Amino acid sequence: MKLLSFINAGRETWGAVVGDGVVDLGKVFPQYPTLADYIGSGAYLEAARHVAGKAADAKLADITYLPVIPRPEKIVCAVRNYMDHHQEVIAAGMQRELSEQPPIFLRVWRSQCAHNQPIVLPKVSESLDWEGELAVIIGKEGRNIPEERAFEHVAGYSCYNDGSIREWQFHAKQIASGKNFESTGGFGPWMVTADEIEPGKALKLEVRLNGEVMQSSHTGHMIFSIPKLIAYASTIFTLVPGDVIATGTPAGVGWSRKPPRFMKPGDVCEVEIEGIGVLRNPIVAQS
Ligand code: ZN
Repeated sequence: MKLLSFINAGRETWGAVVGDGVVDLGKVFPQYPTLADYIGSGAYLEAARHVAGKAADAKLADITYLPVIPRPEKIVCAVRNYMDHHQEVIAAGMQRELSEQPPIFLRVWRSQCAHNQPIVLPKVSESLDWEGELAVIIGKEGRNIPEERAFEHVAGYSCYNDGSIREWQFHAKQIASGKNFESTGGFGPWMVTADEIEPGKALKLEVRLNGEVMQSSHTGHMIFSIPKLIAYASTIFTLVPGDVIATGTPAGVGWSRKPPRFMKPGDVCEVEIEGIGVLRNPIVAQS
């Protein structure tokens, strides 16, 4: 099942994809105002039963998408979690050792943007870069989750574009400033529920800029697995339904290219992950 957040008749809601349309489940379940509330209820695996035989409330082509989870409590992002990306970072002149534990940083929800919504190049930057990533969405609360039980806490998967402002990322050793500019983190178009994707399956991941392939890899190349990331993050804090883990990006980002390549107003960036779909974001300049 594909679940998403969107705007219907001016109202923020959430629903399920049926064919080329969407059923507004926020209307059916007013006790769950957001998709995060619904997946936290544990009932989301029965979404298919609730939409069976229902007519779509709107066509996907007509809706305004919201980030799959519009306001996650936490967006936990893995750094250099693909060996090929680690190698290109070193080739680009950065001295970096492989960490024994997953390096992470946090994004704020205001840095997100939805499918079809613009990624914004801020006034202070000329180095807006793409990072296609598999996003894991937490469905069940947990602290100190052991790796062998980690997938029980996963509600589903989506595409993430961890859009990065490289000048700001490299201001200091910690990179958070370059990773939190408003409307730079594409998230969508929907989440595919975990029952449809075999745990740990290697999924093809591709990023295209104006149709040209920039990143092409698969999620089997992660250095730290999804269970390791969940176990590590939940050692620090309680993971709650709707939390997002962006699992890191493979090789092919813009700044490590020679010469570097960045996104400009008028460009269109797409992140496609096998079994999930295509997240598409036009680039605009900050007004
Ligand atoms: Zn990233």
